[in-house]
Amino acid sequence: MSTGSPVGSHRVVSPAGALPQAADRLDPDPDIADDEVRISVERLNLDAASYRQLRTAHGGDGEAVRAEVRAIIERRGKMHNPVTGSGGMLIGTVDEVGPRSPLGLKAGQKVATLVSLTLTPLHIDDDLARWDGNSEQIPTSGHAILFGRSIAAALPSDLPEHLALAVLDVCGAPALVHRVVSRRAPAETTVAVLGAAGKSGSLSLAAARDAGAATVVAVVRDEIEDACLRGSGLADEIVIADATDPLHLAEKVEHALDGRGADVTVVCVDVPGCEHGAILSTAAGGTVVFFSMATSFTAAALGAEGLAADVEMLIGNGYVPGHADYALDLLRANPHLKDLFIDRVGSADARPAGFAEGESE
Ligand code: NAP
Repeated sequence: MSTGSPVGSHRVVSPAGALPQAADRLDPDPDIADDEVRISVERLNLDAASYRQLRTAHGGDGEAVRAEVRAIIERRGKMHNPVTGSGGMLIGTVDEVGPRSPLGLKAGQKVATLVSLTLTPLHIDDDLARWDGNSEQIPTSGHAILFGRSIAAALPSDLPEHLALAVLDVCGAPALVHRVVSRRAPAETTVAVLGAAGKSGSLSLAAARDAGAATVVAVVRDEIEDACLRGSGLADEIVIADATDPLHLAEKVEHALDGRGADVTVVCVDVPGCEHGAILSTAAGGTVVFFSMATSFTAAALGAEGLAADVEMLIGNGYVPGHADYALDLLRANPHLKDLFIDRVGSADARPAGFAEGESE
């Protein structure tokens, strides 16, 4: 067994010297180094920005989306959308653990990887035959490799796998929102969440509430999303606005907050073009959390400068210590949030992680 680099640099095929996330191509050889773990893959979760881009590019043709995802994985040795630059995560069963692996995993354990698919060596062996290309989640088989410096979480036994996967994919958002709100005076802090009826958005609403925010404003796309959130108790105000229309968005947010911008604005929309609206909707001295993978650094930086906006801007780091447990706990504690997720990800093959084929709930 070879000795691995904890950051996985030994798996980079090209370009030389890159780390796995930036690499064009990784080597998904199933033989593990002494600090690696091999996972037998069961389901992939494409991140929302990547899936939307693929679907839009192929005019909603599921078969074409499936063919492209298959081709990306084959070509790159990882699921790294070359257009959005984003990936997703996966669930599977631990197959083999190298003797020097620091991750504390055991063979046979059901886990979710909490590192991006954009840096996870991946090989699929079923041509994605069980997926119709019409959903973010892909039932599949194959193997993936975790490095010494990766993170994985044991799947909870009390939630259906596909639900846990959807929560864990975006679990960085609520933890970061909680941190950002908590470090201000929460009882005087107003929070606006763009894309609030989505997965990271609804978890962010719950986290803002949990942190004790004074007012929580949910910005949603249309009446349908408004109806999903209404009565959930997750937001004090619900505003319908196109997050890519800066002037209209800022006007609506300010109207909901008595003429002031939000102290904290969280961008959870899965389409590009929300930077300027988010900045304009934020009060001077406030913070914008860009969780969306469709965010442009240039649009945010130059937009804030051009608007002379004194706002702090944070990139939504997908990792915050304790993020997985926190997100799952928010879901368990809030039946409305759980229902929103179930509506969003569907209830197909909704068996808890501990259940085997043939068993029923
Ligand atoms: P999601 O569940 O699809 O939610 C996105 C929401 O935004 C949906 O409710 C969508 O409405 C809404 N929306 C779309 N266009 C809009 C517009 N113009 N105005 C207002 N709302 C609009 O997505 P998610 O899984 O929460 O992911 C959100 C973003 O976070 C994505 O960009 C994803 O890639 C990113 N992400 C980041 C990390 C990280 O580590 N930073 C990790 C995972 C995911 P419809 O459904 O009606 O279109």
